[in-house]
Order: sequence, then C-alpha cells, then structure tokens
Amino acid sequence: MNPIQEIFPFLQEAKKVVITTHQKPDPDALGSSLGLYHFLVQFGHKVSVISPTNWATWLNWMPGCENVIDFELNRDKATEVINSADWVFCLDFNTISRTKNLTALLENCKGKRILIDHHQQPDTKQFAYGISNINKSSTCELVYDLIVDSGNGGKINLQIAECLYAGVMADTGSFRFPSAHASTHHMVAALKEKGLEHTKVHEAVYDNFLENRLRFIGYVLMNRMDVFYEFNTALIAITKKDLLRFQVKTGDTEGLVNYPLSIQGIKLAALVIDRDEERKWSFRSKGDFDTNTFARNYFLGGGHFSASGGRSSESLDQTVQHFLKAMKENAAQLQ
Ligand code: 5GP
Ligand code: MN
Repeated sequence: MNPIQEIFPFLQEAKKVVITTHQKPDPDALGSSLGLYHFLVQFGHKVSVISPTNWATWLNWMPGCENVIDFELNRDKATEVINSADWVFCLDFNTISRTKNLTALLENCKGKRILIDHHQQPDTKQFAYGISNINKSSTCELVYDLIVDSGNGGKINLQIAECLYAGVMADTGSFRFPSAHASTHHMVAALKEKGLEHTKVHEAVYDNFLENRLRFIGYVLMNRMDVFYEFNTALIAITKKDLLRFQVKTGDTEGLVNYPLSIQGIKLAALVIDRDEERKWSFRSKGDFDTNTFARNYFLGGGHFSASGGRSSESLDQTVQHFLKAMKENAAQLQ
C-alpha cells in the first residue's frame, strides 16, 4: 500500500469514484464516507457512496444520505458503479471481508482501492494507496487530515463539517476516550469556525430514538445482563425473541455494550445479539484489556484495543458458553 499522499496530485483530474464502508455503517463510517463525498464532488468527480447494508434511520439527517446506495436494495446500480470506478475508497474498515456481500465485487474491481482507516492490523496488501493510523480518533479525523494536508482546507463546508463531526463525536464517546487527542479538538475548533452547530448533531444522533428503544434497554439491563465480578466482566446476551418483542431496528442496540462498563471495577463488557444471519459480538474494555486480540482469537473479529466486534455461527447458548470459557482463559489479563 502506497502512502495516500501519492493521490493528491491527481485530485484535480475528474474521475469516477466509489466510496464504500463496512456493513451496518455507524456514524464514523457513514460520516467519513459522506464527508469525503462532499469534498470530492467539488473537483467535478462523479462520486457514488455505497453501503453494503442498511443503516440506522437516525443517521438519515446526514447531508447526502439520501443518495447513498444500499447494496442489498440496489445491487445492479452498485455493481455498475463499482465496475466502472477509477478509484474505490474504502473507509472505516481494513479488510475487504468486512463489507459482507460486497466482498467479491470489491476484490475484483478494476479501479484502485484506497484505504482510509484507524483499526488495528490492516490487510494492506488489498489496497493500492491508503492511510491506516490506529492513533487517530476516527476515520472522520483521517478524512479531515486528507482534506487539509492536500492543501484543500478551504473546501470544508458546513455539510462536510456536520458529517465529520458526527463520526468523531461517536468514536470518541463524545470526546471522553483516550483517542480524543489535541488534534481531535483542533479539528472540532476548525469545524466550528465553518458554522458547525455541534448540539444539533449530538441531538440528531443521541436524542432521536423511539420510546420502545429505551424500554428495550431497561428490559435488557434488568433481565439479560450477567456480572462476573471474579473476572471483572459483564455480559449481555439478547435473544431473537427480545428483538421481536421490542421491534428492535438497525442501530437500536448501538451503545448498549457501554452500560456495563459503568459498573465499578468492570474491565470487560460483552454484548451478543442473536441476529438472523449470525451471532454478533461487541466488546468494550477499560484499562489494559486488549479486546482486539480477544475478538480475533475467539470470535473471528477485531477492531481497536478498547472496542472490538466479532461473530459466531453457533447458537446463542453455544457462543455464550464459548465466551465464558474464553473469559476464564483470560482471567489473568482481566485482573
Ligand atoms: P461494534 O461493537 O460497534 O460493532 O464494533 C466495535 C469496533 O470493532 C468498530 O470499530 C468496528 O468497526 C469493529 N468491528 C466490529 N465487528 C468486527 C469484525 O467482525 N471484524 C473486525 N475486524 N472488526 C470489527
Ligand atoms: Mn471508526
């Protein structure tokens, strides 16, 4: 993978561009994709944003969201633009398999794949150009750096500011995680100077749910959370029945895994959801427990040191047993 700076001289030449991200995109994934979109269109490029799957409806406020192609709903259009793209930007993931049903199309595309990402252990062989920096708060911050470092800071408009702010805010836990560096705050200051109303973005992302989502969280914390004090670990396991009962939609479970970390002494919080296609795991940690290694070793996943995800094709009960065994094997690291 060559440094992303090598594409800067070619930004001026109009191209066919695709921007894509990981499945079930979160605020950083969609915000970075749309932030980059609003930047690139200013050069006259023909730009399409493709998501491998749907996303939470509370992200629909993002400027440009109405033009994002959901691959599962519009395969023909997505296939056509990927096959004819000169550049394919891959944002907020670092191994092509994270794009689910898009994987084969991306692997075989003729255009250059360009990575912009902040997760651990990128598969750099898959990309012609890119930037992978695990010390950055978010992919949105990396897109901001790309815009500024290529000498185009003047092109940042309110649309870009809103999209990029949403991702930085979400990935730093509203600026509380260690990943919120001085550079992160400098970036936000610059976005404010472009007219960003940060309260509006915060409310759009965090105060925009239906009542059932709050009832669901209350129910789950009461009935589905187990705390293993000996291992400083808490686990939430959500059944298919729970999802149906509360009509849980994409995005409703976002952030749920963080609740157990607010219990005194808890170092590892785990959440597993019995989705139709697989059992989806989320892991969050405090202190020195490495969830990226844990997710890779036990649940075919990965991510960051303190926030990772994974999956299992076992039944919910089986994968929970697998987790309990893994937790015991990691007893020393969890002390
Ligand atoms: P979440 O728990 O919010 O789904 O994911 C936490 C972090 O881990 C995110 O940065 C996400 O991109 C990453 N992640 C989630 N699932 C997987 C996975 O299956 N594989 C890898 N490599 N990363 C994942
Ligand atoms: Mn991210």
